[in-house]
Amino acid sequence: MKCIAFIQTKAGQASKASLEAAGFAAGMGETTAVVSGELTGDGGLGNAGVSRVLQGPADLDDSQLARLVSAAATQEGADVVVCAQDHLGKAVAGRVAVRMQAGLVAGVTEAPEGAQFTRNVFSGKASAQVKGTTDKLVITTTPNAIGMPEGTGATAAVEAFNADLGDRKVEVLEAAQPSTEGRAPLPEAELVVSAGRGMKGPENWGIVEGLADAIGATTACSRPVSDIGWRPHHEHVGQTGIAIRPNLYIAIGISGAIQHLAGVNGSKVIVVINKDPEAPFFKAADYGIVGDAFEVVPKLTEAFQVL
Ligand SMILES: Cc1cc2nc3c(=O)[nH]c(=O)nc-3n(C[C@H](O)[C@H](O)[C@H](O)COP(=O)(O)OP(=O)(O)OC[C@H]3O[C@@H](n4cnc5c(N)ncnc54)[C@H](O)[C@@H]3O)c2cc1C
Repeated sequence: MKCIAFIQTKAGQASKASLEAAGFAAGMGETTAVVSGELTGDGGLGNAGVSRVLQGPADLDDSQLARLVSAAATQEGADVVVCAQDHLGKAVAGRVAVRMQAGLVAGVTEAPEGAQFTRNVFSGKASAQVKGTTDKLVITTTPNAIGMPEGTGATAAVEAFNADLGDRKVEVLEAAQPSTEGRAPLPEAELVVSAGRGMKGPENWGIVEGLADAIGATTACSRPVSDIGWRPHHEHVGQTGIAIRPNLYIAIGISGAIQHLAGVNGSKVIVVINKDPEAPFFKAADYGIVGDAFEVVPKLTEAFQVL
């Protein structure tokens, strides 16, 4: 089987979510990666199991990226195209599926078993086994679900690649990247400290940031907190926000409404801190602390700082 992996890069290196997608593809068959723009060396892709990298031009819009990936798939005679299930991966995957007249399996969470794939359904409350019925398939992999590929130690050959990409359909006038202050981007973060309305106001977020700093975590929040402007919208997790699957999710002063859980219930370990012992979040927690966040969180931070 021949696969194409669509790779996004940051500072010349493949993103973590893209490396997971590349490793997933390499597990299915011989994999060629497609990158748009800057790349340092092979961007870490040979180590993820990729044999060749096709490097296209920089600064493409979503539809041009889809054309680039589709052209690479045609050139390579690929049966499968794999993208990360993130903002750009989703925008590209659907367009590539239409171009290739391929089935689209979105949000895969485990390595394939033969021709079967596991994906989340009902906002992560259940999983489904699916299989493609078309000759060609486009698959998106959920970040932090499949895990990083075991390093092969190999280096992939990088070749310049171009195709008829058409004109830009969307012009970016200004791009402002959310400041994560040196923390991992939320969809890729392995450790997340999240807080809700129980924090009472934005002036109290210092203790949330303090705990996140102590363990090297990324911060997140519940929807009302971003709706009322206590925290930026890019931190909002849940059904209508970002869905994440970190190794550790610490929820502070969040009630655990079903719409919130929909975005975080794939986390490997959930720790809930809430002063209400009846808070629904405790039912989904691996560890729960019943107590006032303003007392518990500083003590936790202090304990982590001692370690
Ligand atoms: C269509 C739809 C989509 C939605 N999508 C999302 C979504 O994507 N994400 C999301 O988060 N929500 C979403 N919601 C909103 C969701 O239903 C809840 O209203 C929301 O998650 C509640 O946020 P919260 O837990 O921060 O606040 P609250 O429900 O007000 O809970 C605050 C919690 O803090 C606790 N607390 C208070 N003081 C302290 C203290 N000192 N120490 C410790 N604990 C304390 C309280 O006991 C309580 O459990 C959606 C709702 C709808 C209708």
